[in-house]
Amino acid sequence: MSSFADILLPLAQPLYTFAVPEGMALSEGMAVAVPFGRGGGKYYTGIVWRLHDRAPAVRHVKSIGKILYDGRLLVGEPQRLLWEWVADYYMCTPGEVMRVALPSLMKPSARGAAGFEEREYRPRTERYLIPDETLADEGRLDELFEGLARRAPKQYDALLEIVAAREEHGCRAVPRRLVGAEMPLLHALERKGIIRIEERERSAEPSGPAAFQTPLLTSAQQTALSEIRRQFGSRPAVLLHGITGSGKTEIYIHLIAETLAAGDDVLMLVPEIALTTQLVERLERIFGSRVTPYHSKLTDVRRTETYLALSRSEGGEFVVGARSALFLPLKRLKLIVVDEEHDASYKQADPAPRYNARDCAVAATRLIGCRTLLGSATPSLESWTNARFGKYGLAILAERYGDARPPRIVISDTLRAVKRGERRSHFNHLLLEKIGGALSRGEQVILFQNRRGFSPFVTCPSCGWTARCPHCNVSLTYHKGADRLVCHYCGHAEPMRFDCPECGGGGVVPAGFGTEKVEEEIGRLFPGARCLRMDRDSIQSQSAFRRTVNAFEQGEADILIGTQMVTKGFDFGRVSLVGILNADNLLYNPDFRASERAFQLMTQVAGRAGRRSAAGEVVIQTSDPDHPVIRQVAAGDYEAMALHQLAEREAFAYPPYAHVIRISLRHRDRELLREAVLALAGRLRERFGRRVLGPVAPPVDRVREEYRVDLILKIESSASMRRARELLRGMTGELLRDARYKTLILNCDVDPQ
Ligand code: ADP
Ligand code: ZN
Ligand code: ZN
Repeated sequence: MSSFADILLPLAQPLYTFAVPEGMALSEGMAVAVPFGRGGGKYYTGIVWRLHDRAPAVRHVKSIGKILYDGRLLVGEPQRLLWEWVADYYMCTPGEVMRVALPSLMKPSARGAAGFEEREYRPRTERYLIPDETLADEGRLDELFEGLARRAPKQYDALLEIVAAREEHGCRAVPRRLVGAEMPLLHALERKGIIRIEERERSAEPSGPAAFQTPLLTSAQQTALSEIRRQFGSRPAVLLHGITGSGKTEIYIHLIAETLAAGDDVLMLVPEIALTTQLVERLERIFGSRVTPYHSKLTDVRRTETYLALSRSEGGEFVVGARSALFLPLKRLKLIVVDEEHDASYKQADPAPRYNARDCAVAATRLIGCRTLLGSATPSLESWTNARFGKYGLAILAERYGDARPPRIVISDTLRAVKRGERRSHFNHLLLEKIGGALSRGEQVILFQNRRGFSPFVTCPSCGWTARCPHCNVSLTYHKGADRLVCHYCGHAEPMRFDCPECGGGGVVPAGFGTEKVEEEIGRLFPGARCLRMDRDSIQSQSAFRRTVNAFEQGEADILIGTQMVTKGFDFGRVSLVGILNADNLLYNPDFRASERAFQLMTQVAGRAGRRSAAGEVVIQTSDPDHPVIRQVAAGDYEAMALHQLAEREAFAYPPYAHVIRISLRHRDRELLREAVLALAGRLRERFGRRVLGPVAPPVDRVREEYRVDLILKIESSASMRRARELLRGMTGELLRDARYKTLILNCDVDPQ
C-alpha cells in the first residue's frame, strides 16, 4: 500500500501531496475529501491522481479525510490522460480541467469537516423489478401465466406489464415507475420468486431496445458509410463532408448502432443549442432510453446522477452532449461523433480550460483509443485541410436525401434597390414578393438577422453622438419591447432617450436593425402572418426554446425570425424560403476567419430551405453582390471558398498553416496594463521575433471597467508547439511573479476561435 497520494483539486493549483491514513484503500481516480488551506479546517473534493511512497519535503503532511462516492473510480485511466493532455495543450492546470469535467455538485469545496459530510452528494436511487432468469424461457413463462391467470388475475396483469416493459425497453431490470401495479401485488410476485425487487442507483444499467431499427440508407449514403468504415481501418479520425440535408445523421445512426451492439460506448457531440429538441427526439425514436443527454441546461442534480451512473456502467452507453460531455467517464468509449464540427461553440472561450472539444475528440483517438467522426456541410478549414492531406480520412455526401434539391440562391443588391426605389425599410421588393408568395402557398419562411434587439446603436444625426456603455467600450443596443438601452457585454441597462446629451437636439434615432425590429416591420408589412422570434432575448430557457421549435414545426407560425439560433441543424419540413437580411455585417469582420464564418453561416441557414419539397429558395440581401464569399455561397462551392481562404491563410501564416496563441491581459489600471504588455511583448520578441503581433486592442477593449489588451503569437506548423508553449509559460510566469503585476489577469488562449 502506498503511503502518499498526489491529489488534484478543482483550483488553478498544482497537485498536492497528502498522507494516506493507515488502512485506507485508495486507487487512482477515486474522489476524496482533503483538508486544505490555512488552518486546515476546510475540506475540498480532490481526485487521487498518483499513489506513491515519496515523502514530500515539508514538515507536516496532512492526511486525506475520507473516501467519497463509495470509493468508485470517478476518473478512469483514459480520462486522466485526456485531462492531462487538455491541461498541457491549452496551457492550464489539470485542476481547471476538473472544474469543467465534474458537475459542480460533485466537488463541494471549502467547507468544514462536518458541513462536508452533510452536503456530500448522495445519488438518487430507484426501485427496480427484476424478473427471474428462468422467465427468459418462453415455455416457462407461458406456464406461469396460465397458472396466474386462473388463481391470481391481478398478479397476472402485473407480470404482464413487467414483461411488456422489459421487452419494450430492452432492459433486464425494469424501473418500478414504468409499471402501474400496486406494491402489494409486486411483493406477492416477489414472494413467489417470480421477480426480485431491488433498490438501486437510478439508471445504473443502460436500457433501451436491444436491437435498433436503423433507417435504410440510400446508395450514396451506403457508399459514404462503407468509405468511413474502410477509412477507420487505417485512420482514427474521419471527416464526413455532406451537404445540408444529405442525411449525415442517418449515417451516424448506423455507426452508433453498431458500436452499441458490440457493448461499447458512444459519445455524440453537438452544438449546445441543437441538443434541446429535435435531434434528441429523433435519436430517441431509434435508441429509446439508451440516449443520455448531457448539457448545461440540465439541473446539476441530473448531471451528477448521469456522471455517477456512467462511472458505474459496464458499457453500451450512448451520450449525446455539448462540449463538456467529452469528460464523462465512459469506460468503453469506442466512437465519438462530432456533428457540425466547424461550430465555434465547441471552443470554450472563458474561463480556462479554453479547450476545443472537437480537437480534443481527435486527440482522444490516441489517448483513449477510440475512433472519431467529424461531420459537417461546411467543415472548418483546419479539418478540411487535415482530410485533404490524408491526416484524416474523408467521406463525401454530395446529394440531398430524397427529392429535395439544394436550394436556389438569389442575391439581392440592397444599394441598387435603394437607387431604384425598390426597397421598403430593410427589405428589397424582391424579398417581400417572395415572402408574400410563400405565405400565399401556405409555406413557411425563415428570416435571419445576425443582431438581436431592436437596433444595435442609437445615434444623434446632428452631432454624431452615440449611446455607449459607461462600463465597456461598446455602444448600447436599443431593446424596444423593454424600452431600454442594453449593453450586450456586461448587461448594463438604462432608459432609452430621445434627446441628445451632447448637443441638446431632440432627434436621437435608433440605427441599424436587429431581430426585434425585423419582427415589428414584418408585422406591419404582413399583418396576417404569424411570427415567432428566436434569439437570446425571446428564448431564455430550454422550455421556451422547445415551445418555439414545436410551434413552428406544427405550423402554428408562418415566419421564424432569428439570430444564429435558427441556423443550427433544424429540420423543418415546410420551409420553402430563407431570407438573409443583411449579409454585409457577416462579411466585414476584422477576424481572419470572417469569410469562412460568413460562408458557413449563410450555407447553414440556406440549408434550412426546401428540405422536403423541391422548391427551396434563399434570398441574400447585400450591398456587395460581387464579394467572393457571396459568389461562393450562391454557387454552393465550398471548395472555391476553401482554396481562396487557404491561399490567404498561407500568405499571412494563419491556421491551418500556423497555430495561434492569444495572450490576453486585463487590468483596471490602463497605465499598468500598458507597461505590463510592453514588457511581455519585449520578452516574447527576444525569443519569438516576428511571430509576435501586438499589443492589439480586442474589438471591445474595456469591459466592466477593466481594460483589455492582447498579444498574438503565431507558431508555424513546422515548428514545435510544445516548445513554444513551454517558453511562453516561462515568460508569463516570470511577468506575474513581478510584484508590480500581482493583480494583473493574464490568460493564454491556444487556437482561439
Ligand atoms: P443532414 O444532417 O446531413 O443535414 P439529415 O440527416 O437531417 O441531414 O437528413 C435530412 C432529412 O432527410 C431528414 O428529415 C432525414 O430524416 C431524411 N433522411 C435522410 N436520409 C434518410 C434515409 N436514408 N431514410 C429516410 N429518411 C432520410
Ligand atoms: Zn447630438
Ligand atoms: Zn457594458
